[in-house]
Amino acid sequence: MASAGRPPLKILLVGSAGVGKSSLMNRFVHNRFCSRYRATIGADFFTKVTELEGQRVTVQLWDTAGAERCQSLGMALYQGSHCCVLVFDVTVAASFQAVAARQAEPPNPKLFPFVLLGNKTDLPGRQVSAQEAEEWCAQTQAQYFETSAKDGTGVALAFQSALQAALRQQ
Ligand code: GDP
Repeated sequence: MASAGRPPLKILLVGSAGVGKSSLMNRFVHNRFCSRYRATIGADFFTKVTELEGQRVTVQLWDTAGAERCQSLGMALYQGSHCCVLVFDVTVAASFQAVAARQAEPPNPKLFPFVLLGNKTDLPGRQVSAQEAEEWCAQTQAQYFETSAKDGTGVALAFQSALQAALRQQ
């Protein structure tokens, strides 16, 4: 394996409060789920060392809490990051509209990879279809994954895709 001397891959999680950003990070980093809701204040990050394409990489996952409330912080966080994971809750249409509206925010979306996650697929009462999300992704060159931080469905696959995109960007 290559040395761990390379700089960390920085991945941003963006999405409305409550969509499951902290839970997805917790699932990916610790393989755990906690049903207690704790609103993140400001920005927080988790670190995980993992192996990707035969290399040892350090990943920093940044939770950009309540991006609507922190526009300037959001912009600052994009600097130096390698991939953006946009998260919405498939049972809340407004959470999809919120991420879809953020498309033009980073300096150059064509050069900055996105991955879109429709989370909470374990819940009934779906408001956003996979087709709707995939159509948005086709326009923005993002990849779409359906996840449940609760039962773990799709989480490893989604983060693997984000890490690969980030690695290409680094
Ligand atoms: P954040 O504000 O985006 O970081 O959202 P959290 O990770 O704090 O999650 C908000 C609430 O949704 C918490 O009560 C979580 O337990 C719950 N939650 C998160 N992901 C899922 C999921 O995939 N399925 C279900 N059923 N609940 C989830």
